[in-house]
Amino acid sequence: MNSQSSSGLTVPQVIPAADLPDDAERFDVVVVGFGIAGGCAALEAARSGARVLLLERAAVHGGTSSMSGGHFYLGGGTAVQQATGQKDTVEAMVRYLMASTKNPDEQKIRAYCEGSVAHFDWLEELGFEFERSYFPGKAVIQPGTEGLVSIHGCC
Ligand SMILES: Cc1cc2nc3c(=O)[nH]c(=O)nc-3n(C[C@H](O)[C@H](O)[C@H](O)COP(=O)(O)OP(=O)(O)OC[C@H]3O[C@@H](n4cnc5c(N)ncnc54)[C@H](O)[C@@H]3O)c2cc1C
Repeated sequence: MNSQSSSGLTVPQVIPAADLPDDAERFDVVVVGFGIAGGCAALEAARSGARVLLLERAAVHGGTSSMSGGHFYLGGGTAVQQATGQKDTVEAMVRYLMASTKNPDEQKIRAYCEGSVAHFDWLEELGFEFERSYFPGKAVIQPGTEGLVSIHGCC
């Protein structure tokens, strides 16, 4: 059974769990969309022991994420920053983002900055490799495999 949502999309009606047949597949977590956000959410839910269903409507997963430059905006003293001598702190990162964001939400920015080093470590633990090198020039995309670049003219 379907119903019309306020956005005009047809969405399936919610079926009470008690009405499901015994052999219906069951999941603890359903993630809709397999871009980087959905992928990360599904991964962490599965690592926490949940049975996860990750849905993607396109023929291939990846979404906008697969077309992106692949830069992670991280700071506050990551291992690459430390290894390349780029001094940074959570407070400096907060100040920069507060100053460069239109209508900044300090609480969100602060939470993002406070979690930034852990975010970096999480990615490396998953197998992402960030070269311990710094591209000092002005660039949107660094020319080589440098693990750290100050993005200019972006976003
Ligand atoms: C050219 C370009 C370069 C960029 N470079 C960078 C960069 O270097 N660094 C950076 O941080 N950001 C960059 N960005 C921004 C970044 O790519 C996006 O912010 C990010 O990819 C969004 O990720 P997401 O997982 O939220 O969405 P997406 O990656 O778009 O994933 C959403 C997925 O959900 C699926 N979906 C949507 N609706 C449904 C549905 N109803 N049912 C099932 N599936 C559905 C879509 O098909 C898609 O696969 C760039 C963007 C562009 C366009």
